Amino acid sequence: MASQCATPAAAPASAAGPAVFGHGALVLAEWLPHLRAVLVDRIERTEAGVEVVARPAAPQAACPACGAWSSRVHSGYVRHVQAGPAGGQPVRIDLAVRRFFCGNPACRAATFAEQVDGLTVRLPASPR
Ligand SMILES: [Zn+2]
Repeated sequence: MASQCATPAAAPASAAGPAVFGHGALVLAEWLPHLRAVLVDRIERTEAGVEVVARPAAPQAACPACGAWSSRVHSGYVRHVQAGPAGGQPVRIDLAVRRFFCGNPACRAATFAEQVDGLTVRLPASPR
């Protein structure tokens, strides 16, 4: 109303908006704490909600069978993880996980898929 009265209290309009999409990983880590172990490549708002494209930050992974660390990537694939709603919107994480060679010649697992804490769950070994 009293627009000629210059009050310095008003915050700039840009600071009040939904800034979560502009700030990248730091804000995202607070928003979705289980994303701390991944690098976020892209965040998109789709009709279905929010889509986060991410990949694990670790350069290597430990073999679940023998515990040996490996950085030799065998192949990769995308896992779709439902992260639950954030800000009232459903969140889907497209996580590019890798399959590694196990370098331990005595190990029965030739390759293994990496896991990301809080995001992926190791499937039980299939009975033979
Ligand atoms: Zn192994």
